[in-house]
Amino acid sequence: MRKYLIIAIDGPAGSGKSSTARALAKKLKLPYIDTGAMYRAITLKAMRQKIALNDTKKLVETARKARIELKGVDPRKQKVYLDGKDVTKAIREPLLTKNVFYVAQEPLIRREMVKKQRAMAKKNGAVMEGRDIGTVVFSNADYKFYFSASDDVRARRRYRELIAEGRQTTLEEVLNDIRRRDKTDLERKAGPLRQAKDAIPIDTSSLTIEETIDMILDIVKR
Ligand code: C5P
Repeated sequence: MRKYLIIAIDGPAGSGKSSTARALAKKLKLPYIDTGAMYRAITLKAMRQKIALNDTKKLVETARKARIELKGVDPRKQKVYLDGKDVTKAIREPLLTKNVFYVAQEPLIRREMVKKQRAMAKKNGAVMEGRDIGTVVFSNADYKFYFSASDDVRARRRYRELIAEGRQTTLEEVLNDIRRRDKTDLERKAGPLRQAKDAIPIDTSSLTIEETIDMILDIVKR
């Protein structure tokens, strides 16, 4: 029997996982674990070291050597550290976002990440978000949610975020990017994006973050 609570949230980019998971973690006083940040950090390390992203052997080696830490008590202000340095901003760069799939499709890297993610949640539980949490990382999670939203809504959300960060892009570019990421996330062999059989589906297309959180809290409190 596990003594800690695990809430798994999976779903595609822009489905509202991060905002909901952060707020939920804060409300429930649980650690927040953003597994996407970990795949992003490995990608950053490989790009900085100018490793060819299709060089599987070097990529796996890089992942094994990377020290990734998620720091900060407030989930909404969590910082991501790679080898002791703050990379919170750097891992959100659009070019890097396009390149994460090289890292995410590699089974040996996924194995390492899953091990790390399980260890991180071992002590105090977690609200953990990603693509394979309910299916692979914690297939025995106490609660599993699978978020979805229409392509259009997801692209608009992401577009607004990028513009607010001062980045130059178009809605069309963001939509194409989201569709490309969906395809690679759904089609890879290792840890693909899937709704676990026992996950509760939530379509967030017409929900606010607050409504989504209330919906989950209702279920968790029950
Ligand atoms: O969640 P986020 O969009 O930041 O994740 C970045 C990328 O990392 C995703 O597009 C996906 O390919 C990958 N990822 C993954 N498995 C997870 C979390 C993220 O493959 N558990």
